[in-house]
Amino acid sequence: MLAAAGKPRLIGVLALQGGVAAHVKHLRLRGAETREVRTPRDIDGLDGMILPGGESTTMMRGIEREGLAGPLSEFIRGGAPVLATCAGAIILDDAHLGLLDITCVRNAYGAQTHSFEDEVTVEGEPFHGVFIRAPKIIRVGNAAVIAERGDEPIGVRSGSITAYTFHPELTRDARIHDNFLKLKFNLERAA
Ligand code: GLN
Repeated sequence: MLAAAGKPRLIGVLALQGGVAAHVKHLRLRGAETREVRTPRDIDGLDGMILPGGESTTMMRGIEREGLAGPLSEFIRGGAPVLATCAGAIILDDAHLGLLDITCVRNAYGAQTHSFEDEVTVEGEPFHGVFIRAPKIIRVGNAAVIAERGDEPIGVRSGSITAYTFHPELTRDARIHDNFLKLKFNLERAA
């Protein structure tokens, strides 16, 4: 499908820590090329990026250690499509990289229910949400809520950034990765 539209997208997956492989698998199944991102050089030439789930403190340490905060922020501010899941949403929030105008509270569902699955709504459609020590989005500033669990926001979009507090890569449902790959990409590579 994507190949027919020209060159496949080259999507980076931040791979300092966390759930990288399942995102890579979804992307490859949809015809995208992938690259694991660990250093600033790995960002060169990417069409878009996924910031996976995992442990946001460890990821932020890695981002600082590798000098990735600047290049990553520049890439994202430049309008590159980004899909962030769980810890990925946390590292974009106002207390971390500050690229999304939201506030997240980490591990917000408490010890008893820190991991659960539930039926949620994504862009108006039912979706099976897998939540693993998920954050809550307690403030949404200049971003649109695009996913809800009951009346709680669990997904937002702002410009080219889409972020969810759950793990779409852990289900077979490909709609979120499909939608991500359909976003308007900077097509310099294809020129
Ligand atoms: N609890 C993790 C954190 O605060 C996020 C969990 C996840 O990404 N599945 O970083």
